[in-house]
Amino acid sequence: MQLSPEMLTGKSRAHLEHLPTVHSQHHFLQAQALKAFQSLQQCALQNGFNLQPASTFRDFERQKLIWNSKFNGERKVHDDHGNALDLSVLSEWEKAQAILRWSAMPGASRHHWGTEIDIFDPDLLPQGQPLQLEPWEYEQGGYFFELTQFLQEKLPHFDFYFPFVQSEKNTEVGCEPWHISYFPLAQIAQEQFTPDLLLTAWQNEDIAGKTILTTNIDEVFGRFWVV
Ligand SMILES: [Zn+2]
Repeated sequence: MQLSPEMLTGKSRAHLEHLPTVHSQHHFLQAQALKAFQSLQQCALQNGFNLQPASTFRDFERQKLIWNSKFNGERKVHDDHGNALDLSVLSEWEKAQAILRWSAMPGASRHHWGTEIDIFDPDLLPQGQPLQLEPWEYEQGGYFFELTQFLQEKLPHFDFYFPFVQSEKNTEVGCEPWHISYFPLAQIAQEQFTPDLLLTAWQNEDIAGKTILTTNIDEVFGRFWVV
């Protein structure tokens, strides 16, 4: 399905359907991605995993809140090892680059498309341990490592892939072994997305670092956009 500019930038929900889950009423995906994810969940269950979404569709406002709170130092920005960075010593442009490694700009998140899911297994998460969505949880020695291995093998059978694992060599986006993408629809959205479309979505929006991001928009796309 071709998405409108509003859908591509998280300002419309008209492309989405509700994904029912035990823990949350807030999961939405495009219909075809939703069906494929439910099949993947079924396969996971047969292999002993309780595959659940931590995050699916995210709207523009939510992404703006995440972005602005990171930029303003109210929310943790971490390095590849989960250590918090001190953003107060950085310039606006340095700050933007540090955040871009892990967070998309408002309007530029793949989570706007209804094709992306951050996954975890609540049964593997130790009691009382909050989910961090940091690489060490999913890597060797982490409590989700077996789930990662299962997904590496099975994702292609359901037309999903890890966009932020395979991209790591080509871009400066951090490795996100929890983020899966439904390729047939994500590919269409990706082809439709342009810097101009993003700048249009930013009109009349209060976005931290907007001036520096707009000035450097081509570099931002070149370095942090997963193709
Ligand atoms: Zn994600």
